Amino acid sequence: MTTLVWLQREFRLDYLPALNEALNSGDDIILAYFHDPEKTIGAANSVWLAHALENLAADVTNRKGKLWVVSGNFADTFPKLLKNESIQQVYYTFQVGEPFASMQQQALDVCKALHVRLKPFFSEFWLKPTDFSNQQNRPYLVFTPFYNGLLKQQEHIQPLARLAKETLEQTAVKTCPNHPRTLPEDLHRLRQLPWAQKLMDSRQVGETPTWQILSEFITEKLQDYPSDRDFPAYDATSNLSTALHFGHIPTRQLYFELQALIQSDAKVAPAAQSWLRQLAWREFARHLLFWFPQTQTEPFQDKYQQMLWRDDTSNDSQNLIEKWQRGLTGIPMIDAGMRELWATGIMHNRVRMLVASFLTKNLNVHWLIGQHWFEDTLLDADPANNIMGWQWVAGCGVDAAPYYRLFNPVVQSEKFDADGDYLKHWLPELSALSKKAIHQPWKYESECVEKGIFLGKTYPHPIVNLDESRKAHMERVQMMKKTAQPDND
Ligand SMILES: Cc1cc2nc3c(=O)[nH]c(=O)nc-3n(C[C@H](O)[C@H](O)[C@H](O)COP(=O)(O)OP(=O)(O)OC[C@H]3O[C@@H](n4cnc5c(N)ncnc54)[C@H](O)[C@@H]3O)c2cc1C
Repeated sequence: MTTLVWLQREFRLDYLPALNEALNSGDDIILAYFHDPEKTIGAANSVWLAHALENLAADVTNRKGKLWVVSGNFADTFPKLLKNESIQQVYYTFQVGEPFASMQQQALDVCKALHVRLKPFFSEFWLKPTDFSNQQNRPYLVFTPFYNGLLKQQEHIQPLARLAKETLEQTAVKTCPNHPRTLPEDLHRLRQLPWAQKLMDSRQVGETPTWQILSEFITEKLQDYPSDRDFPAYDATSNLSTALHFGHIPTRQLYFELQALIQSDAKVAPAAQSWLRQLAWREFARHLLFWFPQTQTEPFQDKYQQMLWRDDTSNDSQNLIEKWQRGLTGIPMIDAGMRELWATGIMHNRVRMLVASFLTKNLNVHWLIGQHWFEDTLLDADPANNIMGWQWVAGCGVDAAPYYRLFNPVVQSEKFDADGDYLKHWLPELSALSKKAIHQPWKYESECVEKGIFLGKTYPHPIVNLDESRKAHMERVQMMKKTAQPDND
């Protein structure tokens, strides 16, 4: 009997129940990743994917196994493999969001038609969404009760087992006939592009380095995480989001690592709790997208269908959007964040909130435009986290930031980057400015001139007036509420 273990975003060998169950069955195994160029996430994410595939293939080979990488249209390659290799059952790890959801649906249809058993594993969740609901038997829609509910159900969170066998010889029984190269051609070419090479400079991909990064984070940074995590100039967070997206380690095991730490080290326990709570946001996002898959493109709050977003096809809008993308808005904190994203494929969480608020509320650009830009440029682009993040900031999501709360990027900049270190790093053209002026150079024109900074020439004027655009946003929301609920407002 041959079992297919189909990988999506589980680039690891330990703690992978789909693989363990196949190994324990004694069957021949085909361990495969299907690469459909039409079903990738975004450019930066695909660069990491190329490295992750190569890394996993090497790990599998070192264990005397074989990773199949099947390239092409999934609707063709999946049934073809099932037929050609006489697969009798498929094990896979359930993932939320696109492109995974549609591939999982296609796999379900194919397996039904071919009478092949298809078994999902829910190891990328702490608790399977269908086993975890509120007192009304409904999905949680607010984070704090969700988190408290999780803590109450802790005894149901099951640890995952390490790799069941020393070697993966069962996966070497058959050798992928058509794809002698591990990396599909498009990924091979992508990872060689100069920008892609730069993006991966000093990044460590794969299971072993990720455990190492985790261990360093715990020993060197965790203690100060609660106090420092909001300051973009500090290297205070784990930087694990891309590794978690690619499943180099499962967050389920992180949960157990943190519990062990909380029990054994009273000094670090509060910080570990704080990080655990942040990880739970990821779990929340995954549960939300599981229950509400339509939120990938639709606002969770229906009334936001009536929101009068800017017509993003006009030249004016295109121009504003491009300035936001390139970090040329004239608002230093926004520009620093967008330039960090472009240069590194990553942006600090607080700054993500600020640039998203600026785009959707001050510029009145639809949240999907920002979400797509993030999807294409973030290494850690993750359907669940990205959708939740954008809808939360735009005000249309579950448990969202209230519509009247616009982050003021100047106030936030003064609070979270008081000395301007983050701004100076990403905007060297402003580095001569004083701590006061750097957050809003347009209010310090004479200092700018004194320091050789010419607004409109060496650094842009603000593309929008923050106060006026705030008021305009409030008016649009009032209008939306009236249109959506004429009787109540
Ligand atoms: C508009 C917007 C878009 C976002 N898009 C993504 C995305 O595409 N992919 C992504 O992984 N995260 C996204 N986030 C969440 C967050 O910004 C990143 O997870 C975080 O910056 C990663 O840094 P870290 O690994 O050092 O996090 P740490 O602070 O060390 O946190 C540990 C882990 O917890 C999870 N986490 C932390 N904060 C959040 C959060 N607010 N929401 C969900 N999970 C969280 C992440 O998996 C993170 O790696 C987005 C946030 C916003 C506001």
